[in-house]
Amino acid sequence: MKKQRTALITGGAGFIGSHLSDRLLSLGYKLIILDDLSTGNKENISHIINLPDVSFVKGTVLNKNLVLRLAKKSDIIFHLAAAVGVKLVTDQPLESLLSNVEGTHIALEVARSRGIPILITSSSEVYGKNPNIPFSEDADRHYGSVYNERWGYALSKTVDEFLAICFWRQYKTPVVTVRLFNTVGPRQTGKYGMVIPRFISQAIKNEPITVYGDGTQSRCFCHVKDIVESLVALIDCPAAYGEIVNLGSSEPVTMNDLAKKIKLLVKSSSPIIKISYEKAYNSTFEDMKERIPNTSKASKLVGFKARQGLDQILNSSISFFKDLSEESGEVI
Ligand code: UDP
Repeated sequence: MKKQRTALITGGAGFIGSHLSDRLLSLGYKLIILDDLSTGNKENISHIINLPDVSFVKGTVLNKNLVLRLAKKSDIIFHLAAAVGVKLVTDQPLESLLSNVEGTHIALEVARSRGIPILITSSSEVYGKNPNIPFSEDADRHYGSVYNERWGYALSKTVDEFLAICFWRQYKTPVVTVRLFNTVGPRQTGKYGMVIPRFISQAIKNEPITVYGDGTQSRCFCHVKDIVESLVALIDCPAAYGEIVNLGSSEPVTMNDLAKKIKLLVKSSSPIIKISYEKAYNSTFEDMKERIPNTSKASKLVGFKARQGLDQILNSSISFFKDLSEESGEVI
């Protein structure tokens, strides 16, 4: 019989981490979930936290001794703990920079010392405002002024990627880096600025749906289940070690159309209003006009496909919010 493998998931109580946990459990893994619950939420893992195959540890990835101790009992590491969302990153720029860079450095050091595979989650933010879509993994990065916190976040994710490449080239640490594009689904909260949970929550409450800027900017949204399936496959794919891999949908939708679609699906009476970026974030804020990944590398490596279309994605998030508001009597 094959030995049961143990996965350490940093940030495992977050939105993506909790779905990754579900996927790994369904495949027969044991889990060690490390989360400081700063942006993660125990509710996300309440359905699994008491299972015999799950250990939850409240702690930070910045505690190297703790991470090392947990990694000693693990066969693979998924490093998801990081600053999340444009709003948080612009509100807490120093903490975001430090936790991204130091956290990833520690996770890589620990994987190296244990000689076990590690997956690092990076972000499509790394491409910055490069106008040449779709983005392949070797595309240029276009950043603006250092006075804009968003570029600091993009840069911290870039440093994470450079660290991963160095650990692969110098120590042959089996590391795969994944650049996640806009990932959505149940359990994602609007607290950190993400547009879909915000629009849905506003629509359910019949409050104004807040489109930032002129609303012609677009994004491609991918269901979290499609993403986690490939995370699990990539960590066991030797051809992906030392590589950076885009994961995301390639179907763009403008924020104006997204707002209309959500209003319709929720059958909401919300007005759709425009808010300037200056009011929404701050005066130095710069948004990305569009962002589309080229995912041919992920398809070739592990057969990645964004299976769920936008309507399916929105319906699953809407059901989640409706269930939640029925349970708690309020909408988050
Ligand atoms: N956005 C919006 N209204 C909101 C929140 C976000 O119009 O209430 C816009 C935001 O300016 C951006 C897009 O939605 O153009 C996606 O934002 P999100 O923060 O979800 O992701 P990211 O900017 O990282 O792609």
